[in-house]
Amino acid sequence: MSKINRQEITDILDGYNKEDITIATLGSHSSLHMFHGAKAEGFKTAVVCEKGRETPYKRFGVCDEFIIVDKFSDIVNDEVQEQLKDLNSIVFPHGSFVAYAGLDNIETIFNVPMFGNRDILRWEAERDLERKMMLDAGIRIPKKITDPSKIDGTVMVKFPGARGGRGYFVATSTEEYHQKIETMMERKWIEEEDIKGVHIEEYVLGCNYCIHYFFSGLNDESELMGMDSRYESTIDGLTRVPAKDQLDLSVDPSYVITGNHPTVMRESLLTQVFDIGDQITDAAKGLVPPGFNGPFCMQTLVNDDLEVVVFEMSARSDGGTNTFMNGSPYSYLYHGEPLSMGRRMAREIKNGIKEDRLDDIIT
Ligand code: AMP
Repeated sequence: MSKINRQEITDILDGYNKEDITIATLGSHSSLHMFHGAKAEGFKTAVVCEKGRETPYKRFGVCDEFIIVDKFSDIVNDEVQEQLKDLNSIVFPHGSFVAYAGLDNIETIFNVPMFGNRDILRWEAERDLERKMMLDAGIRIPKKITDPSKIDGTVMVKFPGARGGRGYFVATSTEEYHQKIETMMERKWIEEEDIKGVHIEEYVLGCNYCIHYFFSGLNDESELMGMDSRYESTIDGLTRVPAKDQLDLSVDPSYVITGNHPTVMRESLLTQVFDIGDQITDAAKGLVPPGFNGPFCMQTLVNDDLEVVVFEMSARSDGGTNTFMNGSPYSYLYHGEPLSMGRRMAREIKNGIKEDRLDDIIT
């Protein structure tokens, strides 16, 4: 199936009444602050929500229109797309939107105008593309171990797809690697197919910081919007068990994300943070034009050499943005007001309308 071309989206956008734009997305992930921010900037909002999941959107009073579907993936159905376009909708993508709509569908059949670069989403989903972008950008990433037989230190073992850390494990030798693969298969956390796509990398011993940036296509600049760290089961639960009892538990830690904490970094590390944002956005411009556009997140571990090591990225709003629905220390420094990521996105749309440059930021 052929890819949606830019002209098709531009034509749909041309037919929109710019005085009556709706901000729409799937009711999940980081949509609450997107809706809240959109309303604060004067837009109407529409949620596409799975039946039975509408309560938060009603109770927080952030949505004007409810498009209720049997299942989230119905967002790509023709009738839903038509309803969205009738509302002059611009869709704000987030992790659940990408997961439920499906990357292939977003690239080929979902032609509702979207904020951001729809082509860049694949670069976060496919590990080889993601690594290529980070290597091109010259960013410090964990070293890759090309074969299980070459494990000669502590490594992190990962499997394909966004799985919230499920099935990941740590190993220190080739034998331990094979042993743990067996265990994960028995638990049914991984399948034969996953093993073909296994990715083994240096285990970075450090503290977790997920850095949320906003790239303004209108200003050609990345802004540091906030930071969170992940709260993961069972690894974080295990740290609450005294060391001698941890051995008795004999469980392998898992890295299933369950929540996020807001955090800040040592001020002396911020130069690295800005450099990472600038390097990745510069690299992306060449690799997948027009590059980043809107929110993105670099997931990092900071070791005791004070290196900020990037192990993952999100090329759209990341769930950790929920830690600063009323602004973060960084978004406050930048904008002098408590700005959420959602509101920053809505403001970019508002400025795009004002400057008659929506075409530059919508795909
Ligand atoms: P991911 O699915 O890549 O976001 O990883 C899930 C979790 O695994 C992260 O939040 C970290 O806690 C941990 N992790 C991922 N990569 C590494 C690494 N190279 N070294 C140490 N921990 C890691």
